Amino acid sequence: MQDSGFTCSYCREGARGRLTFAASTIAGGGQGMADRFRTIVDIDAGFAEASALAETVLDWLVATQVVESEPTDRVYFSDSGYPPGTAASRVVEWAADTIAPYSMVTNGLVIHTGREVFGYYREDGFPDAAICPACHTMTPRADSEAGSASEFWKLFEVDGLAGWFAGDDAAGVPCPACGERIRLVEWRWAGHALAFGCLGFTFWNWPPLRPEFLAEFAERLDGHRTIVVAGVF
Ligand SMILES: [Zn+2]
Repeated sequence: MQDSGFTCSYCREGARGRLTFAASTIAGGGQGMADRFRTIVDIDAGFAEASALAETVLDWLVATQVVESEPTDRVYFSDSGYPPGTAASRVVEWAADTIAPYSMVTNGLVIHTGREVFGYYREDGFPDAAICPACHTMTPRADSEAGSASEFWKLFEVDGLAGWFAGDDAAGVPCPACGERIRLVEWRWAGHALAFGCLGFTFWNWPPLRPEFLAEFAERLDGHRTIVVAGVF
């Protein structure tokens, strides 16, 4: 296997592997007519603490007028979400072609608690490979010759996915390259805007969020690590 030396779209560090993938599915790309999601996923929040953290962050977002306190139904994958508030423009990055979220029909913030697969809206299958956050090696999901699920992926489904959905926040599998045991929620994915977590904040049709805002957001989540997954629905 040749090292291709591209950058991991999640952590911005070098990833090693032979697969290439479209960064636009992760980075969100340019502005179009399709609905775009942008989800801040707290990968450290366990199932038990997710609701309390969600409340803390919502209180902060309402108090700072980033979102309105009265929910509407202008969202997807939930009955209701919080519309952009008067200060929403201060937390997003503006470009010449930016469309303000206020002018979009679907524009709310949905707060998801519980075990979720964030960003997996398009039903076009799982990612091609998992990226280890420790050594940045990409492990393909399928064996290249047989095209069937690799041994790694079988292990992943049993010890990672199934364990996590059954209630084990710490469920995970060892990286085939470096041997480190990586929790399900910490794996990164090639070619998909995807993250597992118990707490996620999905902004529908909001422009990219400012780094300062994301930093404060993480602080409000008790300093937890967060991942932003973004793409088109
Ligand atoms: Zn590794």
